[in-house]
Amino acid sequence: MSIVSNSLKRIKPSPTIAVTSKAREMRAAGKDVIGLGAGEPDFDTPDNIKEAAIEAIRKGDTKYTAVDGTPALKKAIQAKFSRENDLSYELDQISVGTGGKQVLYNAFMATINKGDEVIIPAPYWVSYPDIVLLAGGKPKIIKCDEKNNFKLTPEKLKKAVSKKTKWIIINSPSNPTGSGYTKDEIIALSKILIKYKNLYILSDDIYEHITYDGFKFFTIAQIEKLKSRTLTMNGVSKSYSMTGWRIGYAAGPKEIIKAMAKIQSQSTSNPTSISQAAAVEALNGTQDFILERSNSFKERRNFVVDSLNNIKGISCLSPEGAFYVFPNCKKLLNNKTKLKTDKDFVEKLLEKAEVAVVQGSAFGLEGYFRISYATSMDNLKKAMERIKSFCNSLN
Ligand SMILES: *Cc1c(COP(=O)(O)O)cnc(C)c1O
Repeated sequence: MSIVSNSLKRIKPSPTIAVTSKAREMRAAGKDVIGLGAGEPDFDTPDNIKEAAIEAIRKGDTKYTAVDGTPALKKAIQAKFSRENDLSYELDQISVGTGGKQVLYNAFMATINKGDEVIIPAPYWVSYPDIVLLAGGKPKIIKCDEKNNFKLTPEKLKKAVSKKTKWIIINSPSNPTGSGYTKDEIIALSKILIKYKNLYILSDDIYEHITYDGFKFFTIAQIEKLKSRTLTMNGVSKSYSMTGWRIGYAAGPKEIIKAMAKIQSQSTSNPTSISQAAAVEALNGTQDFILERSNSFKERRNFVVDSLNNIKGISCLSPEGAFYVFPNCKKLLNNKTKLKTDKDFVEKLLEKAEVAVVQGSAFGLEGYFRISYATSMDNLKKAMERIKSFCNSLN
């Protein structure tokens, strides 16, 4: 008998973290590995945010705070939703946690009963199904096609949704594909969701600020008839390059927010007081660097997409947001290349070309891989050359 609990046996460690560790090990052994696996911006946290944290330490903001966020941070979040999304919330409709991941975790632990269904469009962020499983729920995975930019269509939603559906997760722009839903696409999905009165929507908006080509971000809580059933998750990790500070938040129905605080009060208590002070500055301070950084991401996206489409056997869409692309490698999976799955492809790529990426199957869609281009142009140039010669060597 293993000491490990049955509920833990249902889940696996994060595959994206696994690739990153493998690459780190190879690097420690002296290999010149280029890591395109990690899901975090390479930019530093802006100075005004760092200063706010230092000031908080000096002022003595170093004690426990209210469990689900300081009043100052909740006010900054309230103002953010009003300013950027035209959404109004009371302070008791807002919850702050130790990263968006904890916020999601709280939400599902607080609301899922054994066997409850959660619709998750694939490709998905690796943590969604596992958090649902840990909470005792049943992930209902819907595979979305490349021809629809990997987005959920009303037809697919109609087939999947039922009275048993407790939650549906919408992530736009998406990790791992970078695809974003337009206002019209959200409206089309919402027409179906409105009919299922017991269903809740989890909108993961963490990549809201990383968009290109004039893409207009729209979030499902802006649909009036769905606002009372939508929990909108966001955070400072991606927009403000603050992954290590661990601050995420959500806004939505009071009842859920209150239940989430109850879980947090018996697990981690409040997120770090100092990080909360920094997040206040992130949300209230200058937003100028966001556009600047998006422009560098865009330049990298263009380069990566063009380079990949110049490689025989690979094809790649040009997405409207986040810092990922999700190229198709199906043409390279055959008897001749001796590669059967996308996992074989990424393992050989790491071994032979020393480039770390993550297989599409880790995100629920086989035949693809994810590249994170949140790294320097120099690294990307080297990586694209290596991927090209690796793919050519297979043919
Ligand atoms: C990074 C990420 C998150 C949350 O990250 P935190 O650092 O925990 O705030 C949530 N959803 C997606 C899709 C992400 O990529």
